Amino acid sequence: MNFVLHGHAVSSGITVGYAHLVSTARLEVAHYEIAEADIEAEIERFDRAMRSAQDELASLKQHIAADAPAELEAFLDLHRMILDDSALAQAPRELIRSRRANAEWALVQQMERLVERFEEIEDPYLRERKADVQHAVERVLKVLTGAQTLAEPTAAEEQKLIVVAHDLSPGDMILFKRHRYGGFVTDVGGVTSHTAIVARSLGIPAIVGLHHARQTVAEGELLIVDGVQGVLIVNPDPLVLAEYRSRQAELKAARQRLKRLKKTPSATADGTPIELYANIELPQDAPEALEAGAQGVGLFRTEFLFLNRRDLPGEDEQFEAYRQVAAAMKGRPVVLRTLDAGADKAMNGDGETAQNIPNPAMGLRAIRFCLAEPQMFLTQLRAILRASHYGRVRILLPMLAHVHEIEQTLALIRQAKQQLDERGLPYDREVQVGGMIEIPAAALALPIFMRRLDFLSIGTNDLIQYTLAIDRTDDAVAHLYDPLHPAVLTLVANTIQSATRGGVPIAVCGEMAGDLQLTRLLLGLGLRNFSMHPSQLLAIKERILHTTLGEVQALAQRVLRNTDPAKTRELLAKLNA
Ligand code: PEP
Ligand code: MG
Repeated sequence: MNFVLHGHAVSSGITVGYAHLVSTARLEVAHYEIAEADIEAEIERFDRAMRSAQDELASLKQHIAADAPAELEAFLDLHRMILDDSALAQAPRELIRSRRANAEWALVQQMERLVERFEEIEDPYLRERKADVQHAVERVLKVLTGAQTLAEPTAAEEQKLIVVAHDLSPGDMILFKRHRYGGFVTDVGGVTSHTAIVARSLGIPAIVGLHHARQTVAEGELLIVDGVQGVLIVNPDPLVLAEYRSRQAELKAARQRLKRLKKTPSATADGTPIELYANIELPQDAPEALEAGAQGVGLFRTEFLFLNRRDLPGEDEQFEAYRQVAAAMKGRPVVLRTLDAGADKAMNGDGETAQNIPNPAMGLRAIRFCLAEPQMFLTQLRAILRASHYGRVRILLPMLAHVHEIEQTLALIRQAKQQLDERGLPYDREVQVGGMIEIPAAALALPIFMRRLDFLSIGTNDLIQYTLAIDRTDDAVAHLYDPLHPAVLTLVANTIQSATRGGVPIAVCGEMAGDLQLTRLLLGLGLRNFSMHPSQLLAIKERILHTTLGEVQALAQRVLRNTDPAKTRELLAKLNA
């Protein structure tokens, strides 16, 4: 049967491939009643899966890499102990016997009971151990569902696969960087969620907010992902497939043509230079930034180094990651944003933290979290400072709302410098410190921030989230995400204008900077520094090369002053004509 699902386009391009269903084992476990006669066999199946998970843990322990975090061994031991405990080794057997529950279901029921008990514990450290119970159980579930027996696809096979998931955390997405999948589609998620941002950085077609893809698509079905329109076509008929194949070839050829612009200086048609920087998530993204001709890294989201692990990266490990980027960029500026953990970038990698906080986007995220954990923050600041000796490193502070956050951070930077002096380690004594303007309060009270900072960068993703009160990760309100809302445009335009007048360098590093539809508008509003995913950079450069500032300024001001949404779109179309 062929059918079509509509979602939100995240990453443009078209891909054709086969569905590869990805799930968190917990979410999608089978639930059925077994026949009386099968009880003993089911218990035996459960016992075998428990033994197999134990063997897997033992083998992992034997093969721990020399550079693995020290905590890993203890963590593997803990999981073995959890699986040995009668609460998991025995209780599910009883449920299989008394309720005739299938093994997976019995195990999940017992796990949920244990998790509830953990949630009642007052000590926060012990309470968080429930995540270990969940992880240990997931390992057994994977054995039961046979997931681990699937052969790992080769790189060539991966390109033909399209990942279909209910949801993926930013941590999951970062793991996909090691793979070469053809595309991604998910049921939930907003277009500026970090999951979507990482998908975009992979430069492959992706769609979020499809609602029922995970339920309705079967493994191996042929899919077309139209990342331009946000459309997923399942089992297309031959005519549709032929049409999409030809569109795909056209898009590929256009991408190829853009490569010719790599060395062309970035400037408008009337000669104003425009700086183009790259946003990266991991040190290994730096070569891609260079390949796209970026003038530097405008945003390194360092929190991605902290995801998918249970310990914190130490000073040396962080230093090495930052040094690697600073060195790879060969003297070009590298803006290292300090840890922006929290909200959808939960640090324990499985979203648990976010689930326990009533309103995570407004909670202890980013700079707030860092200032609440000064030792952890100092460790990162020392690592960044040490890396500054190896390139042109700048420090960027996320989510500023209060001046005292800057003052406290500057004091910590002084302290970190002093600690490095005591250790005799070199660093750039003049390292610049900038701030993100991504909370309306900061945009509205800009002068007090400007006075204390060397540069500014507008984070439009959060600025839109907080101005319009829409959770950027929630597809239920994704239709209300609107960069053209007059309130958003006013905040962005005023910030660019005030910073420029005040002589403070200003960039945009949110997703608006990489949106072709908005390039001329931002140029017209005075923006001269854009930071975006490397995969977008050459297309944006091409647009800049074909823009005459003298022609777009007046029109951009009209968009800004206009309050009628239909008219705004009409004016934007004119601007982009
Ligand atoms: C932003 O908010 O626009 C931004 C660049 O930061 P992040 O997307 O990582 O929150
Ligand atoms: Mg942000």
